[in-house]
Amino acid sequence: MSRETVTRHSCHNCGGDVAVKKNVAEKAYYTCDHCGFKAQHTWQRSSDAYLSKIAPTPAPTQAPKATPAPTPAPANRRSAGTILG
Ligand SMILES: [Zn+2]
Repeated sequence: MSRETVTRHSCHNCGGDVAVKKNVAEKAYYTCDHCGFKAQHTWQRSSDAYLSKIAPTPAPTQAPKATPAPTPAPANRRSAGTILG
């Protein structure tokens, strides 16, 4: 059974297009169809970092926009230098 492609990336060896997949342990790996190079993560955190780097999550968690702080009313400035008449 072939694993589902998570994303596509370039081969670290030849630069060719590769299908990055996850193994049963949910760690990223790929086998390059162009040069046969194989790469597989053995640490979960490095696999997650790799995937988040090359394929940002499609549904980004958007932080709610901070409501801008109300701007303080401008001080009643006197216009200096206005010469009338
Ligand atoms: Zn390759």
